[in-house]
Amino acid sequence: MTSKTIVGKCKLCLEIKELNFEHIPPRSAFNKETKYYIVEQTELYQKAKEYTFENLKPKSKKEQGGIGTHSFCINCNNFLGSKYVRTYKEFAQIAMNIIKSNDVNTKAYQFDISGLDLLKFLKQITSIFIASNNDLFGKSYPELLEFVKDENLDDLNNKYRFYMYLNSEGQNRNGHIHFTNHAGTICDFTFPPFGFVLSIDNPNHIMQLTNITAFKNFKKFQKTEIPAIILNKYPTYYPFPLDFRSKEELNGST
Ligand SMILES: [Zn+2]
Repeated sequence: MTSKTIVGKCKLCLEIKELNFEHIPPRSAFNKETKYYIVEQTELYQKAKEYTFENLKPKSKKEQGGIGTHSFCINCNNFLGSKYVRTYKEFAQIAMNIIKSNDVNTKAYQFDISGLDLLKFLKQITSIFIASNNDLFGKSYPELLEFVKDENLDDLNNKYRFYMYLNSEGQNRNGHIHFTNHAGTICDFTFPPFGFVLSIDNPNHIMQLTNITAFKNFKKFQKTEIPAIILNKYPTYYPFPLDFRSKEELNGST
């Protein structure tokens, strides 16, 4: 259990301070008792098949008490907790209930999101990507820090595009930044019931996913204008971003 504080640079305010253990996603969104292993990324990529289908066990010890890291100082942590977490938790509970009460083979779901503060939801997702990556991420993309730090700011450079999907099978994805040939610069974060993708500087729409970038304009929407949202559900058996192949497809390709 790694809940004690350490001193380091806060990834949000960039000051050297005492850092809290930050649950990613929030503890209240099904991340309270998560048990997990920490596996080095190269190792996981090279042995994706062995870990996923051949019962290879990580050498590291099993961690518990929820996934997260020491990312933010106590002030920033409290700020995020009081401003954005509740909306995320609400939506996560709705989505989890709907997924669980439907057939496992259902591929897409429609949600009424008119009751949710979508700007706050988007800020919470942005904070997840900031927390998941190292300091360099905030240095490279300072607009994302500003977007999270100011709860009222609803302007964000158009080069940042956010996508969303649902997830209930496979493994979690850590949201680390990847520079890919096929989709440019992307981060893919998965923790049931959600998956989120942040795409940077890539004007091409990622076909399989629902673009939620417009959530930043939430305050300009008339409440009656908010359409229902349709989200596809994808498995995430391999750790590679945007790899949504099913168990059958993966077995078939080897
Ligand atoms: Zn801070």
